[in-house]
Amino acid sequence: MHFGDPGPGFTPNCPPERARGRGRAWYRGDCHLHTVYSDGRRLPEEVAAGARAAGLDFMVSTDHNTPASHGAWGNYAGPDLLIITGEEITTRNGHWLALGLPPGEWVDWRYRSRDEAYARFVRQVHRSGGLVVPAHPYCPYVACQWKFGYQDADAVEIWNGPWTYDDESAVDTWDAMLGDALRHGRPWLPAVGNSDAHSVPQVIGAPHNVVLAADLTRDDILDGLRAGRSWLAESAAVQLDFAVTGHGRQAGIGQTLTVPADAFADVRLTVAGVPGGTVRFITDEGQTHQESLPASGSGTVTWRATASLASYVRAEVRHPDPDGTPGHGNSTGPALPWGPMAAMTNPVFLRATG
Ligand SMILES: [Zn+2]
Ligand SMILES: [Zn+2]
Repeated sequence: MHFGDPGPGFTPNCPPERARGRGRAWYRGDCHLHTVYSDGRRLPEEVAAGARAAGLDFMVSTDHNTPASHGAWGNYAGPDLLIITGEEITTRNGHWLALGLPPGEWVDWRYRSRDEAYARFVRQVHRSGGLVVPAHPYCPYVACQWKFGYQDADAVEIWNGPWTYDDESAVDTWDAMLGDALRHGRPWLPAVGNSDAHSVPQVIGAPHNVVLAADLTRDDILDGLRAGRSWLAESAAVQLDFAVTGHGRQAGIGQTLTVPADAFADVRLTVAGVPGGTVRFITDEGQTHQESLPASGSGTVTWRATASLASYVRAEVRHPDPDGTPGHGNSTGPALPWGPMAAMTNPVFLRATG
């Protein structure tokens, strides 16, 4: 190495905490992205351009183990794109995202599950107003499997990049935790999905979160994610609306519908952008309804539940299997029973009155 000619000094320009929102609305965002500031190949300006090209309203910068990129994002955020600062912390027993760190704040990564360290750094992130999100918990790479449990987490990344079998495992674990949380009266853990894009050909925004937030600000987006008022989409081409109605009331994603135990609760999913897709409704008992979308990819699927028969309902929209079939229901066999995920929701909970 040798010295080159001196260049201009670096002036940090941190991104603003709000963008031009539409008030209370659904906002799309990818919360796991890398740049040349860690092991990504993209410059911050290329990541911001990719987020805009993917139709996103916000993105979170999560370079590995460093806040070095934070001072660059102010140059690329704008009224049309909220950029939130964060970090991916790569311990020896799994990776976690700190979303919404104050610019310049660093979270240590040098520990494993057996060490007395993780809880301290969780507290650091919570004190700073950020979210703790275990990432790709079943990723098969060395030191990537999550071994810290989920007790301290605010959400879990159950869909990381292109849909693969380890995402199926993460969804199963998450779904089982929903039932357990209800049993103990503990807060439930929302699901998120992110691209983890590092470089070409990894696609920024595939997948991403669609979050109901009071406005397009850092705090409102973090609140929406923390409350699970969100669904997961493979791209901005997919649209979805999911609600449960009963006894004159309605609850949306992440909310609870409180109704008499045997009152009808009508589950309704409207979706667009998944040609020939398979809609699955899943309760604490597993899949209770399956229906195919037409070739146009748009449709409305309904199903009737009661609070006595379901403690929550969530929806998945799958692509067809490679052979064009819709997937084989509640059966088992040597292959994965479903095509890749196109979209999925956080649950709507059903609570029986008296
Ligand atoms: Zn990772
Ligand atoms: Zn990553």
